Amino acid sequence: MNNFGFCIDCGKVIEIKTRSHCNHCYFMYRETFQQIKLYLKKHPNANAIDIANHTNVKVEQVMQFIRDGVFQVRP
Ligand SMILES: [Zn+2]
Repeated sequence: MNNFGFCIDCGKVIEIKTRSHCNHCYFMYRETFQQIKLYLKKHPNANAIDIANHTNVKVEQVMQFIRDGVFQVRP
């Protein structure tokens, strides 16, 4: 009975614990990831504030990605 978990974003129960997001949040996560990645490609020296100002991503979300080690961004 350990085949379920909780979405780390919205807390919804996920039936099979293969990822940390539910389908909806995973989709949003991917979208956000792509936006930041694209921005950093054009502006490699951008910081979290720059990214948030030029994408639809909130600063807290950008910081979360950085904390997770997904992106290497200057402080
Ligand atoms: Zn979710």
